[in-house]
Amino acid sequence: MLTKALSSVLVVITLAGCSPSGASDQVDPAGSGTAGAAGIGDPDFPADGNGGYDVSHYALTLGYDPQSRHLAGTATIDATATQNLSSFNLDLHAFTVSSVTVGGHPAAFTRSGDEMTVTAGLAGGTPFQTVVTYQGEPKPVRDSPNLGTYGFVPTKDGSFVTAEPNGAKTWFPANDHPADKATYDFRLTVPDGVTAIANGELAGQPTSAGGKTTFVWRETHPMTTYLATMTTGNFLVKTGDSEGGIPIYAAVDPRYQSQLNRLYEVSGRITDYWVSVFGPYPFKSTGGVVDDFPSGYALENQTKPIYGGFEPDEGIISHELAHQWFGDSVSISRWKDLWLNEGFATYAEWLWSEHQGQGTAQQIFDRHYLNANDPMWNYPPGAAQKGDLFNNSVYTRGAMALHALRKRVGDDTFFKLIRQWASDHRYGNATTEQFIALAEKTSGQKLGDLFNPWLFEKGRPQTAT
Ligand SMILES: [Zn+2]
Repeated sequence: MLTKALSSVLVVITLAGCSPSGASDQVDPAGSGTAGAAGIGDPDFPADGNGGYDVSHYALTLGYDPQSRHLAGTATIDATATQNLSSFNLDLHAFTVSSVTVGGHPAAFTRSGDEMTVTAGLAGGTPFQTVVTYQGEPKPVRDSPNLGTYGFVPTKDGSFVTAEPNGAKTWFPANDHPADKATYDFRLTVPDGVTAIANGELAGQPTSAGGKTTFVWRETHPMTTYLATMTTGNFLVKTGDSEGGIPIYAAVDPRYQSQLNRLYEVSGRITDYWVSVFGPYPFKSTGGVVDDFPSGYALENQTKPIYGGFEPDEGIISHELAHQWFGDSVSISRWKDLWLNEGFATYAEWLWSEHQGQGTAQQIFDRHYLNANDPMWNYPPGAAQKGDLFNNSVYTRGAMALHALRKRVGDDTFFKLIRQWASDHRYGNATTEQFIALAEKTSGQKLGDLFNPWLFEKGRPQTAT
């Protein structure tokens, strides 16, 4: 959806002095600011994200009561204007917003659907801090049958938060698109006995006061909004280090108590193995969360993949942990490139199978290739379709494209390329065109005759491998 420009009917406040972060906020001196766009520019998801600024950090101070399903929060957002602005938008779904300040000064705002427009005159290049205070019952996005229910989903004992593709707005005001990555601080307060799990690492022990416990988590590496989580409930937790020295945080709902040691051990072992294949681990910790949830669902939440309603096997765990490199560290800039996440993570499952002495990647490839009537042959995975974003083709045919590439250029070049890809775009964003260019550069070959049929054309490619 698009929000019409509202700046002309709102009072433009004058900003002066310093923001709490020390950044200066300036009125656009020429008075030539224009409204920031209501979308970040993804043609398939025109209302997702916003234009005119870039977020560097979210500090989320949130209290959640699982019984009343009430969330009260303050989001402090550090950003830089990328143009002269008269107003800018944040994405927020439901909630009552009680106040917004920009640079420490009250700012006028309006809401229309999931768009909140904040009036502020800001010169391009100016860092500014926005504080949004809000409360209410979180409402997940319901987009069946395409994307299902996602975002902040209340559970019996807390919340299950998986937000791909655009569900961060169901729990905090955001520039909700993967093209704008930022670091995060989470200060999460829940009733005593409830555990609150977010991304990154705990900053000290939880503190308790007045019947409530506060967990402080820090994700110091850039993260897309959809990978942020605030999963709460009754959890059993095991922490330690992998053999390779990577800190592990594993948590399971008591229903999955028997899985805790296995989740911990397998997550550490697979993370260490991926370091040997993909290069250095991008983050400071690894692990996983298994929650009691009505439907089987998994998401590669940064540093802590989450598995809902099932006991994850090694294949699923290998997939979600491979995403820490491909999807989480190297992120897409637009949703049509989703195969860069899912094709890579699916291919990682095949590599794990091969490493375990089970089916080889070639055998798995052959099995899929032989099914000439598979619907994925009619869906080119290199351009994921907005109405069918998570089609099997994006996963399986995307993985097959990588295997075809591996056969073409040979193992040495292929794995060198994969490590280079993870290194070149670490903590950033990248596109399919950039991957193809790197593949051609690394191999010294023109590869259009491989990538075009595998990624961009309908029909089963002629040559298997
Ligand atoms: Zn995946």
